[in-house]
Amino acid sequence: MPAETRLFLCRSDNYGVLLHDQESGATAAIDAPEAAPIEAALKATGWKLTDILVTHHHADHTDGITALKGKYKCRVVAPAAEAATIPAVDETVREGDQVKVGKLSTNVIETPGHTLGHIAYWFHADKLAFVGDTLFSIGCGRVIEGTPEQMWRSLVKLRDLPDDTEFYCGHEYTAANIKFARTIEPNNKALAAREAQAKQQIAKHEPTIPVTIGEEKKANPFLRADVPDVAAGIGMAGRPASDFFAEIRARKNKF
Ligand SMILES: [Zn+2]
Repeated sequence: MPAETRLFLCRSDNYGVLLHDQESGATAAIDAPEAAPIEAALKATGWKLTDILVTHHHADHTDGITALKGKYKCRVVAPAAEAATIPAVDETVREGDQVKVGKLSTNVIETPGHTLGHIAYWFHADKLAFVGDTLFSIGCGRVIEGTPEQMWRSLVKLRDLPDDTEFYCGHEYTAANIKFARTIEPNNKALAAREAQAKQQIAKHEPTIPVTIGEEKKANPFLRADVPDVAAGIGMAGRPASDFFAEIRARKNKF
């Protein structure tokens, strides 16, 4: 049976998401930005929380863990490299580890850059990826703890997932990301199409995610640092992709 998901906003612009295995009844929250909206989503669906899969240690991804663990006795899975700074961890995971949510199976992908221990969860059979604050729709996370080179390599790992993989990210930043992306690739047709689509979604108060990796890599400049025309567009033809990535990430920080 296919996995079910439920997406909802938490805090100001964080996304909460539940993943449900119909067969076993298991339900995972991907990160726990805030307990109340996660509990409201559980109530609305009738699902029972069995697991929390944490992508990284930032408070806006972990603040809800303690309350949810206390109430539901769920298992907390977290990146090994950040377990010391995440509350109530039961199980630590690294690159290549497999985690089960009921009958659903996920592979752990280490994606350092935003934080050094950041991980993504890839549910191969369900064509879903939960990428936290590494990849955003038409953007990427700030490089807070790692280097731009590291972040670029992490983004390439996510870009290499099958094109039909739908990814869920940690924040709703799409509109601002598109505005910036247009300054890098003003003539990108896929980006223009995404802008039109996102405007409609936002006008209807709908989320702009999930998006497939295949669509994303046509429009997100942070996944296109090694496309020669894109680098040439800002006068960086022939430079290493990680240099181009570092340059546009720095521009975005000031945008
Ligand atoms: Zn973060």
